[in-house]
Parts: sequence; C-alpha cells; structure tokens
Amino acid sequence: MKLTSRDEWRVMVTLKPRRPADLGLTGLDDLAEFVALPGPLTVAVLPRRLGDFGFVSMGDRMASRDIEADYRQRCDEIARELRHRPQVEDVTVTCTETHTCSHCSLLWEVLTADEAANHSTNFDEHSVEGEPVCCDKSIAEFRTERGIPQINEGVVAFRNPDRPGVLLCREHGAGWGGMVPLRSEDLPDGGVCTHGDPAEPSKVCGRDVLIGGVA
Ligand SMILES: [Zn+2]
Ligand SMILES: [Zn+2]
Ligand SMILES: [Zn+2]
Repeated sequence: MKLTSRDEWRVMVTLKPRRPADLGLTGLDDLAEFVALPGPLTVAVLPRRLGDFGFVSMGDRMASRDIEADYRQRCDEIARELRHRPQVEDVTVTCTETHTCSHCSLLWEVLTADEAANHSTNFDEHSVEGEPVCCDKSIAEFRTERGIPQINEGVVAFRNPDRPGVLLCREHGAGWGGMVPLRSEDLPDGGVCTHGDPAEPSKVCGRDVLIGGVA
C-alpha cells in the first residue's frame, strides 16, 4: 500500500515591496522613496520546529501526536498572519510528499500506461497503468483490490525456451527473466522439476509440478 509522508513544510511568500522600509531598510524616508524589483520576489518562511518551545527543545515526536497536521496548521497560521499585509502579494503553504511502500519501504513507483502495455516492462498481460513495481506483496495487493488475476495465476511450472529439457516448479522457476509460464493444459503428460545438480539425483528437486499446486 502506498504510504505518503509530508515534510519540509514551508510558507512561500511573494512580496511586492514598494518602499525600502517594506524590506526592513528603514531610516531612508528623507532620501529614498521606492524600491524596484528585477522580478517576483518569493521567500520561504519556515515554521518553527514543533518541539522548539524556546525555553526548552525536544524532538517533534515528543511534542506532537500528529506531526504533519501540526506543521500544516502552523503554516496555515503563518499564512493567515501574512496574507493581508500590504507588501505581500501571495502566500502558499507547501511541503514535500514522499511515497513509500508499506511492505518493503522502497519508494513507491508505478507502471505508466506505456510500460503496462509493453511486454518488456510489464509483469504479464494483465498489468495496468498504476501498478506498483517495488515488491510482490504490493503487486498482489493492488491486483486483489481491482480484481485483476495475480501474476502467474494458474501457472504450474516454467520452461526455459533456450533449454527445452529444463522444467522448473513454481518455487524454482518464479522470478527468472525469460522463462515461459506453463499451465496444466500445457503439460498433458505432467512433468517433474529438474532444478538442481543433474550429476547428483538426490539434489534434484524432482517435484511433480501438477501435484505441486496451482496458485
Ligand atoms: Zn490471463
Ligand atoms: Zn513494496
Ligand atoms: Zn523445483
């Protein structure tokens, strides 16, 4: 599942100072009248840390039960304070959003429509735009939510197209690139997994792939 965390809260303030004093350049009233800007002047106003109480400082986690909501509220307050000041043209609260996977903690990335339609980038013919790519669990969850057949659903074994003698059970064949998935109807005579060391029969998997189970 996609988790979203927000940090780096700030209030972006676009200024339109007219006089030097609007920028804190005071004491020039007899000598100067206006300031000119080369372009829009936007500054980031950073909220005080939640755990910083001036007289004592602690981690944000100690000071807040909902850090995101509290920073948002603090920034909204700053924005409200500034919005109607004469030298302020615009105020916007921003933050950085980070999306991660709840299962594997990697950054949350998804297939584009093109990637989902392309056999070299999708997982199978059932891949759709927006399908996560980070781990099996997030893909399975995504497909369950949308009623999409799971990856390799009904697959009992895999064949290596370059080595026709190699047949691999689900356990030993899943996850390899270039393997051809087989369903039970593709194996009318059944088959056993050849994974292992052919010189040592005791180390060959030997699982009957039709009895081995269908996902
Ligand atoms: Zn299918
Ligand atoms: Zn993941
Ligand atoms: Zn096997």
